[in-house]
Amino acid sequence: MRQHGSDANLPGDTRTTRTASRVFDPERAEQPRFVDTEITDMLPRAPQHRRQPTSAAKGRVMIVAMAAGAAAAAAYTAVKPPGDTTTQTVLAAQKMPMDGAAAAPRGMQLIAVKPAADAAVHSEELSKGAAFAQERAEREARLQRPLFVIPTKGVFTSGFGYRWGALHAGIDLAGPIGTPIYAVSDGVVTDAGPTAGFGAWVKIRHSDGSVSLYGHVNTWTVRVGQRVFAGDQIATIGNRGNSTGPHLHFSILRNGTNYIDPVPWLAARGLSLGPYVG
Ligand SMILES: [Zn+2]
Repeated sequence: MRQHGSDANLPGDTRTTRTASRVFDPERAEQPRFVDTEITDMLPRAPQHRRQPTSAAKGRVMIVAMAAGAAAAAAYTAVKPPGDTTTQTVLAAQKMPMDGAAAAPRGMQLIAVKPAADAAVHSEELSKGAAFAQERAEREARLQRPLFVIPTKGVFTSGFGYRWGALHAGIDLAGPIGTPIYAVSDGVVTDAGPTAGFGAWVKIRHSDGSVSLYGHVNTWTVRVGQRVFAGDQIATIGNRGNSTGPHLHFSILRNGTNYIDPVPWLAARGLSLGPYVG
């Protein structure tokens, strides 16, 4: 043996043989106990636990690295304007996340639309309710309205009867020009506008067949055939025709033909006329 020099060649030297066998015996050198003792005593424990990646682990690491690289490339291309085909391909790969990002505003819009639809339905219900309430209020107000009203506000200046040899076929209620004139009861307008004698008039036929006449009117706001309710303004006081001053000439024609005294007619319907009317 070269390491031991000439001593190794000496015959009968057991020490040399023993030493040689200890140092170079391959079986002893391969024993785990010997190796463990040497490493445990001489090296820190941490290197023993350091893991070298297996081939499979290396593969996973490579995949993660590739994914990270793709993400980095995608992030880069997201900033970089698309130029070549490679960039376009990466952008195509990023299509799903971009769609997901684009879907978020749409989702928010859907969330915003739904309450808007609810609000629309709600407002529709409100409008329906308001319309119903208004209709009911109008109906009740109509029921509350009197069936007969005094035609205007003024001074009782002349009654029904003969005067100066002629029949004054109505009553005169004097008032300023423009004073509102109201329909005394529900009915349908049969005449409205200029006429001889009264200058202008309005006539309304009522359900019992009687007709109310309003003469010398300055203006009229109804038309023939129009349905009116008691209390509706139909005209204003004027001084047209054969008149000595602004006043309303009011007549009642029973059955539409026979002039009767309006005062008892109105009294029979709960309306009494004094010196001042209305
Ligand atoms: Zn008169």
